[in-house]
Amino acid sequence: MGKLGGFLEVERHGIPYRDAVKRAHDYKEFLVQRPVPELREQGGRCMDCGVPFCHNGCPLGNLIPDWNDLVYRDRWSDAIVQLHATNNFPELTGRLCPAPCEAACVLEIKENDAVTIKQVELAIVDRAWAEGWIVPQPPRRETGQSVAVVGSGPAGMAAAQQLRRLGHRVVLFERDEAAGGLARFGVPDFKIEKRIVERRVQQLIAEGVELRCGVDVGQDISAEELRAGFDAIVLATGSRVARDLPVPGRDLDGIHFAMDYLYQRNRWVAGEVGPAPTVPAPPVPGSVDAPPEISAAGKDVVVIGGGDTGADCVGNALREGASSIVQLELLPEPPEHRPDERTPWPQWPLKYRLSYAMEEALQEGLGDQVYSIATTSFSGDETSRSDGGPGRVTALHIAQAEPAPPFGPVAGTERELPAQLVLLAMGFLHPEPGLLDELGVEKDPRGNVKSVKPYTTSVESVFAAGDARRGQSLIVWAINEGRQCARMVERYLAGKRDAGSGLGLPEDQGVAGHADADEGPEGPPQHVGPGVPAG
Ligand SMILES: Cc1cc2nc3c(=O)[nH]c(=O)nc-3n(C[C@H](O)[C@H](O)[C@H](O)COP(=O)(O)OP(=O)(O)OC[C@H]3O[C@@H](n4cnc5c(N)ncnc54)[C@H](O)[C@@H]3O)c2cc1C
Ligand code: SF4
Repeated sequence: MGKLGGFLEVERHGIPYRDAVKRAHDYKEFLVQRPVPELREQGGRCMDCGVPFCHNGCPLGNLIPDWNDLVYRDRWSDAIVQLHATNNFPELTGRLCPAPCEAACVLEIKENDAVTIKQVELAIVDRAWAEGWIVPQPPRRETGQSVAVVGSGPAGMAAAQQLRRLGHRVVLFERDEAAGGLARFGVPDFKIEKRIVERRVQQLIAEGVELRCGVDVGQDISAEELRAGFDAIVLATGSRVARDLPVPGRDLDGIHFAMDYLYQRNRWVAGEVGPAPTVPAPPVPGSVDAPPEISAAGKDVVVIGGGDTGADCVGNALREGASSIVQLELLPEPPEHRPDERTPWPQWPLKYRLSYAMEEALQEGLGDQVYSIATTSFSGDETSRSDGGPGRVTALHIAQAEPAPPFGPVAGTERELPAQLVLLAMGFLHPEPGLLDELGVEKDPRGNVKSVKPYTTSVESVFAAGDARRGQSLIVWAINEGRQCARMVERYLAGKRDAGSGLGLPEDQGVAGHADADEGPEGPPQHVGPGVPAG
C-alpha cells in the first residue's frame, strides 16, 4: 500500500521537462525521467485508498495502487505485469495521456497534490523495455479464424494484439506507409519518438500479426473482398474529417488543415532520424505530383484552435523557425484553479493549463495564446498569383468573441492579425464516410459508426473501435476501445466455433502464450475523466 503516511512526508514531484528554450531547437522527447529512488518515493505516496477513485478516473481501469506499491517496494518486473494486465501500450499513455487518474486521485482533493501516477507508469514500462522484460507473446495455438483490422492507430493496434494473442489470424491494414495512426503521424517526435511506436509494431509482427501498410481499404481492396476473406472486421479508422472555417478568404493559399502540416513535419523527421517506413512514403513535397510544401520557417503563423493539435502545430512551427506564432481560441480563458461549482473533484477539472508548446513559445518571446477570439475573414495578396487564383494569405480579421454560444464577434472589437501561414486545428467531425458507406454500416447523428451493441455495428461480423466509434478522443480511450472491441469479436467468433465448426477450444485452456489475453475489467469503467477533445 505504499509507505504508511508517505504522502505526509514526501512532496509531489511531477514529470520534469527539458529546458524550454533548449528543447525548442530539436525534435528529441522533452520528458525527463527521475532517478529510481525518487520514483520509488513518489510511488510510496499512494495511500491504497479503500475506494481508489483513480481506477475510475482511468479509462483503462489501470490497477494503479497495485503498481505504485510494487514500485515503492522495488519490484519493477512485477509492476509491468500488473500494468500490462489492463494496458497494451503504457509507453503511449505514460507519455501522452492527460492523466484523468491524477485528477481523480484522493490526494488531489488538495489541488495539485495527486500521486504522480503517469510518471510512475512511464518509468515502469521504460524500465521493462530496457531490461528486456517485454517480449513477443505469440498464441499457443491457432483458432483457424481470421480478423481484418482496418487502421493501425492505438485502437487498431490494441485490438490486433488482443485478437492475435487469442490465436486468430489477424491482418492489420493501414493506408499510411507505417503503422501507429495519429501516434505516428499526428503527435510530434518531441512528445513521442517514433522508435517507441515502431518497437510495439515490431512486437505485434513478432506475435504473428500480418501488417499490410500502404493499403487503403475501400480503394486498394474492396469492402466486399474484405467481408468474403475474413470471419470478422474491426473498423479502427479514426476520426479524420477536420472541422473547417468557412469564412471569406478561406480559399487563399497558405491556409491549411493542421493535419496536413503535421503529417509533413512527421514525415520530414522520419526522413532525418527514422525509423524508415514499411512501404515507400508519398512523394516529398515540392517534387512532381507531390502536395505543396507547408512551411512555417520565417513566417508569421496563426494557429486557430487551442487544443492538443494546435499546440503540436505551435511546437513544430517554433522548431522550424517561425517569426511569430499566435494560437487563437474561441472559448473564454478557463480559470486558473479547479472550478468546484462546475467540475468538482473527482471530475476532470476544466481549468487553465499552459501547454508545453506555449511554454516554449513564450520563453522564446515568439508567441502567445489568445482566448475569446472569433475569426471573421482572411485577406490576401492577390498580386501574388499570376494565374488568376486567389493569392496568398496576408492577414486574419478577428474580433472579441461573445462569452457564450455561438461565440459570435462583438461589434466594435474588430482588428487585424498579420499571417503568412494559417493552420486550422479546430478538431475533427467524424470518420471518413467512404468505407463505412461501402460496408453499409449505419452512422450515429454525429457521423460516427453507430454501435448496435457495444462495439458491434449494424452489419453482422463488422465491429468498430476508437475515434471512428466514439468520436475524436484520447489515446487511452483508443486503447481501451481496441481491447473491449477485441473481447466482443472473440465472443462472436467463439459463438461460431461452438456452432459446430469443430474449432472449439477446451474451456479451461487459455489460448495465449502467457495467460488470458484480456485480464482487464469487464467493460469500460464508469470513468469520471475528461471527454477532453484533443483538437
Ligand atoms: C495532432 C494530434 C495530437 C494528439 N495528441 C494527443 C495526446 O497528446 N494525447 C492523447 O491522449 N491523444 C492525443 N490525440 C488524440 C489521439 O491521437 C487519438 O484519439 C487516437 O490516436 C485515436 O486512435 P484511433 O486508433 O482510433 O485512430 P487513429 O490514430 O486516427 O488511427 C486511424 C488509422 O486508420 C487508418 N485508416 C483510415 N482509413 C483507412 C482505410 N480506409 N484503410 C486503411 N487504413 C485506414 C489511418 O491512416 C490511421 O492510421 C492527438 C490527436 C491529434 C490529431
Ligand atoms: S492511462 Fe492515463 S488515466 Fe490511466 S493510469 Fe495512465 S496516465 Fe492515468
